[in-house]
Amino acid sequence: MATISGNLQAARARVRRAARAAGRDAAQVIVLAASKAHPPERLREACAAWQRVFGENYVQEAMEKMDALADLQSLALEWHMIGPLQGNKARLAAERFGWVQTVDRERIARRLSDARPPELPPLNVLIQVNVSGEASKSGAAPRDVPALARATAALPRLKLRGLMAIPEPGGDVAQQRARFRAVRELYDVLCAEGLALDTLSMGMSDDLEAAVAEGSTMVRIGTAIFGPREQRAASPAHAAIA
Ligand SMILES: *Cc1c(COP(=O)(O)O)cnc(C)c1O
Repeated sequence: MATISGNLQAARARVRRAARAAGRDAAQVIVLAASKAHPPERLREACAAWQRVFGENYVQEAMEKMDALADLQSLALEWHMIGPLQGNKARLAAERFGWVQTVDRERIARRLSDARPPELPPLNVLIQVNVSGEASKSGAAPRDVPALARATAALPRLKLRGLMAIPEPGGDVAQQRARFRAVRELYDVLCAEGLALDTLSMGMSDDLEAAVAEGSTMVRIGTAIFGPREQRAASPAHAAIA
């Protein structure tokens, strides 16, 4: 039977192979465990297998898991918000997460900065880019990203680290690589403009090889680590919140 530990080792091996094939150092690619819809005990298993970076899509669900895993504080787990962020959840996100990967408009960036507690370090943020046009509602249009990046970088309680993207799934590796390349090129433009960025969050269970080939520094892996997710409506974590 597949275990989370075994799955994690396999996922890390895929990243290593992809990095080597691209002539990159695998240490440049962080594996984020995308743990939405999985209960805290599954995250605990991942922690036992040295996983420290987790991504969650819903603020409320994430906070319940953070509380359930509070005894692991000494492990310094890193929590990333990777789901679309509603304005009314910005305050909680700024208080509880280390990173928000889904900044896609200036208003949300300002809210996050205003709400980041002074005793915490600045909130790490990524700008989510919508490289699939109409196919996705989340993310800033590529043409809007440079101005949004400058505005975000100027906010006092945020630290802009780079870009995140969820290109439309499917296609062959060449198509996947073309979508990721578009994100990387935008990232390169921002760096050339003088922004000090170090994070390009792209690649999931089904396309991480293409993402690593195009320069990803953070792959967000859910299914390949935790197995299939139950439907959100049927998830016990959510039944408890509703
Ligand atoms: C769920 C999710 C992932 C992981 O997807 P898998 O295909 O299960 O690996 C990555 N990124 C985001 C933003 C997600 O919501």
